[in-house]
Amino acid sequence: MAVTKHKSTQEAPVVLPVGLTAWLLDCAPVRDCETCQSEWQRLRAAKDRGDITQASKHASRVRDHAGGGH
Ligand SMILES: [Zn+2]
Repeated sequence: MAVTKHKSTQEAPVVLPVGLTAWLLDCAPVRDCETCQSEWQRLRAAKDRGDITQASKHASRVRDHAGGGH
C-alpha cells in the first residue's frame, strides 16, 4: 500500500512567503472600534482556514481606520 517515491524536486504547496503574508495581514485593530474588532475576527478566521486573500481584505479594512475609511 505504501508507495514511497523519492523525487528530486519538492512538491511544495502554493503558499505565500511568510514575510509577504505577514505584510499583507499587517494591521492594528483599534480596541474601541467595533468595525476593527469585527474585521480582525474575520481576518483571523480566514487566516486559520488558509484563506490569505480574504484575510488580507479584512486587514485592509482595519487599516482603513487610520485613513478615516470607517
Ligand atoms: Zn476601526
